[in-house]
Amino acid sequence: MTSLSHDQLRANVLAINDRIARAAVTSGRDPNVIKLISVSKTFPVSSIEAASAIGLSEFGENRVQEALGKMDQTSKLPIKWHLIGHLQSNKTRSAASRFDWIHSVDSEKILRRLEDAAAEAGTTPCALIQVDLASEARKHGACVDDLRKIFEVGHTCRAIKVRGLMLMPPFHPDPEMARPYFRRLREVREELAHDGVRMDMLQELSMGMSHDFDVAIQEGATMVRVGTALFGHRTSTV
Ligand SMILES: *Cc1c(COP(=O)(O)O)cnc(C)c1O
Repeated sequence: MTSLSHDQLRANVLAINDRIARAAVTSGRDPNVIKLISVSKTFPVSSIEAASAIGLSEFGENRVQEALGKMDQTSKLPIKWHLIGHLQSNKTRSAASRFDWIHSVDSEKILRRLEDAAAEAGTTPCALIQVDLASEARKHGACVDDLRKIFEVGHTCRAIKVRGLMLMPPFHPDPEMARPYFRRLREVREELAHDGVRMDMLQELSMGMSHDFDVAIQEGATMVRVGTALFGHRTSTV
């Protein structure tokens, strides 16, 4: 993996921040509430160091094992780590003790396991509940009907802080095709609030990637997960 020059990285960050600001302004939102999660999966530690040096502080990885190695090598840097990929139950212990945010909680079972592991480790990570709106059998995410039960478990958590919802819509090159999914996730949040889920547990909507985060922001995203537009194309497919 060739790493980017600092100038290129800086230019990419400026372009992304510009897109964030435009999308926010066109939809009457404050750009400052939108957090950029730099998705560093498959990229080397040197890319993370370079991004950290120009002020980026939130990094997303989709594999626990790969992330743990990178955390060890960047432990002196001011970085918050986000797990954005599927979480298997045998990885809940390391996920709960090492990540600041876990975007991929999709069952009561995983949430309970994370809570036990975090309590034991003395950590208090934030969690998002990943929702599957397309009912794609091969995809991860909880279906909408299961969300109330998962949030009930969330209300009982003392270590894990549930903070919102995450979405990975079916991939389509035209970002407008994702808009109905982004909009639906916002509606699901409103329905959960109406049903009595605590507002602090519904603060965040993690949605939007390199090619469609503008649309996600127009529909209410508070966290966008951006890899390619920041670091360039990945050579391995993950
Ligand atoms: C890889 C990945 C991203 C970033 O995708 P890009 O198109 O490179 O911006 C976002 N979210 C998840 C869950 C991912 O796995």
